[in-house]
Amino acid sequence: LKFVSTKGFSEAVSFKEAVLGSVATDGGLYVPSSFPAVEFAPGTGLQMIGRAVLAPYVSPDISEEDLAGIIEKAFTFDAPLVQLDKYLYVLELFHGPTAAFKDFGVRFMARVIENFAEGQEVSILTATSGDTGGAVAAAFHGVPNVRGIILYPKNKVSPIQEMQIAGFGDNIIALEVDGNFDDCQRMVRAAFADADLRKQHSLLSANSINIARLLPQICYYFRAYAQLEAGSKPTFVVPSGNFGNLTGGVYARKMGLPAAGFVAVTNANDVVPRYLKSGEYKVGAFVETLTNAMDIADPSNFTRIEALYSFNLERLRAAVSARRFTDAQMLDGMKRLYEDYGYVADPHTAQGFLGTEGIDGPKVLVSTAHPGKFRETVGQVTRNIPVIASLEIGNKLLHKQSIDARDGLRAFLD
Ligand SMILES: *Cc1c(COP(=O)(O)O)cnc(C)c1O
Repeated sequence: LKFVSTKGFSEAVSFKEAVLGSVATDGGLYVPSSFPAVEFAPGTGLQMIGRAVLAPYVSPDISEEDLAGIIEKAFTFDAPLVQLDKYLYVLELFHGPTAAFKDFGVRFMARVIENFAEGQEVSILTATSGDTGGAVAAAFHGVPNVRGIILYPKNKVSPIQEMQIAGFGDNIIALEVDGNFDDCQRMVRAAFADADLRKQHSLLSANSINIARLLPQICYYFRAYAQLEAGSKPTFVVPSGNFGNLTGGVYARKMGLPAAGFVAVTNANDVVPRYLKSGEYKVGAFVETLTNAMDIADPSNFTRIEALYSFNLERLRAAVSARRFTDAQMLDGMKRLYEDYGYVADPHTAQGFLGTEGIDGPKVLVSTAHPGKFRETVGQVTRNIPVIASLEIGNKLLHKQSIDARDGLRAFLD
């Protein structure tokens, strides 16, 4: 099994080359060349699923023994399936140390990088609108030979999120950018486009363009299935921003996961729902919403999903549908989840809930964050704010440096 570019003009590479390269030399994203079939008995745990799902992808760069160790350290929490009524289930992906589903991908990637580094210094660059930065800081803090550099937009992340990003210090460098999230992404892209800089500092991306973040997200779809009644064929409903989570799902189906379908749910940043309807991919203006982790105008992983269906719109439409909802609809969904099922959901999960309505048969709502992370919005709607049992935020002092959006990262990295 090799990794090939979505653009098809790069050589096929091994897992290690794909991870260390971050993106393919032709500018495309790395995707697996094949998807080995797996099958699990009901009740199978996440560790066992992780070993079986991931072994063919990481081989031969990582031995089965090392993989087992990586998974043991990365997946220290489960993905429980909570039943709300006969057909509605919530897959809770927020029981990791930063209370968002990104812990699955980022913690796996951190252990993989540790395995690959072999005494060489690498710098992990990440642009974040909030959740990714916190997960990266927590996962890479204290990893030897790694410098984690996180760019986040000034005054545009919540106080909890800033603490999660800048609270560690040591090998984690938090850069507060005087600009917006697009500026952060642009600065990271510019650094990667600078071949000298990239080589000199062994730059890697920890955004979900990196295949090491994506593959572990296949595992929790199988874990969900293992908790359902045997023989179910559920529809998975996924709140989507950069479409990395959904990519994990469609890859799982390729590997044999029984699924009736996938529904991607977006907020007003709705390029994908519009595309599936009209056939025209037209990036709209960036819209700020209450589901800020889904505020992505041009999702980076969507091309991976298109590649899986050979860039054929009809095949894509048959596999995935997409719906968009407004903030007002999301708040109403959060209220109904609370009143009808006694379930307190974070805004992103509530957004996804709307996408489950009107779908027959068993359906799994993929829940991406703990409601306690969004106290303002959740408290407004439910008057019940669950407390996060523990959140990794470092030593509670902000270790941050400011940088202007017009500056490049070179001066800073040297
Ligand atoms: C990142 C994130 C999303 C979007 O996930 P993608 O993989 O980017 O589609 C949704 N909800 C929360 C809470 C997130 O952190």
